[in-house]
Amino acid sequence: MSINIHPAVDNGIRPATPGFAGGTLLCDCPADKVEVTVASQTAHNHVCGCSQCWKPAGALFSQVAVVPKEAVSVTANADKLKVVNPSATILRHACRECGVHMYGRIEKQDHPFYGLDFVHTERSPQSGWAAPEFAAFVSSIIETGTPPEQMGAIRARLVELGLPPYDCLSPPLMDAIAAHVAKSR
Ligand SMILES: [Zn+2]
Ligand SMILES: [Zn+2]
Repeated sequence: MSINIHPAVDNGIRPATPGFAGGTLLCDCPADKVEVTVASQTAHNHVCGCSQCWKPAGALFSQVAVVPKEAVSVTANADKLKVVNPSATILRHACRECGVHMYGRIEKQDHPFYGLDFVHTERSPQSGWAAPEFAAFVSSIIETGTPPEQMGAIRARLVELGLPPYDCLSPPLMDAIAAHVAKSR
C-alpha cells in the first residue's frame, strides 16, 4: 500500500531557510489567480487530518501553518474569495473558482489562537518556509473515508517521516490552549 500523506512531506521534508521572511500564496486557477502575501515566516507547521482543512487531490492530510494575521494580505483578485463555512471557528477564505483555501482567520477574540491566520504554504512559489513538525487530528481521516485498519500503517509512516502523530494538536499547542482557558477563568 502506498501512503500519500501530503506532497510536501512524501518525498522527505525540506528544512526552512534561515532568515526566510515570507512570500506569496497562489490559488490554482489558470488565470486571474488569487494572491495572498504573507510577510512572515510561519510557525507550528504541521499536517492535519481534520475534515475542514483544504487538501490537495490524493493527499490524506492537509499541510497548514500559522502566521500573525497582520502579516497576511490579499494582494490580487480578492473578489474571488468566499468564506467556506461562516459558522466555523476558523473562517477559511477560499477561491470560489478553484476551491483552494487561501487563508483561515479566527474572528472570536476570546479564542486561544485569535490573532493567528492559518495558511497552506504549499501554495507558494517560494521555498524556505518552515518545515512541518507533527501530524494533528490523525484519527479524523477516518471520518473522511480512510479505513480504520489502515491507521497503523499511516501512523507508522508519519513517525518514519519525523511527524509525531497526535489525535488532537501537539502537546505544546494543547498546553497553550489549556493555559488560555486557565487564565480566562
Ligand atoms: Zn482560484
Ligand atoms: Zn485541519
